[in-house]
Amino acid sequence: MHPDCERILLTEEEIHLKVKELAAQISRDYSDRELLVVGILKGSVIFLADLVRNITVPTRFDFMAVSSYGASSKSSGVVRILKDLNQGIEGRHILIVEDIVDTGLTLSYLVDNLKTRGPVSIKVCTLLDKPSRRMVDVAVHYNGFQIEDHFVVGYGLDYNERYRNLPCIMVLSPNVYKGGKKA
Ligand code: 5GP
Repeated sequence: MHPDCERILLTEEEIHLKVKELAAQISRDYSDRELLVVGILKGSVIFLADLVRNITVPTRFDFMAVSSYGASSKSSGVVRILKDLNQGIEGRHILIVEDIVDTGLTLSYLVDNLKTRGPVSIKVCTLLDKPSRRMVDVAVHYNGFQIEDHFVVGYGLDYNERYRNLPCIMVLSPNVYKGGKKA
């Protein structure tokens, strides 16, 4: 257990079992199609790496990086694209892969943005979901774990760029961000 963390929320084993389940479901649903997985940097990277290795249909992947305009405008759902896809998505089946859906504002923006580019379909896969924090209704098709409103780190999720490399998901101790802001 990391000293900055309060407790383990999800163990490595629980995560890996869930990733395999999600990948099996995705492989069944896209059985006769090719998938373009769009990972949202940086939090989804470790989840995406494990997920795509368990997906059995032909799969490409690409990444986007986004940031909100800051605390006040975050509630408006305005996000800035820091890195866009390297390819067009016209005619493709898109699976957005997120680490966690919280208010849903980032995802809602991304789905609307990608829809304008002419894909055949867009679905969303998230490892974690905090439904109690949702501000906008956004469809999540593949959902690993619903969690309570804790600030979690590990398995790709950070606080100030730290803890992404922890193999499990932990609740960060409030002492760590006492006096500072959550990432
Ligand atoms: P939303 O637009 O849904 O509010 O924002 C989702 C993003 O907020 C996630 O991709 C993630 O970067 C960040 N986030 C939300 N909750 C947590 C959390 O508990 N831990 C970490 N590390 N990031 C979170």
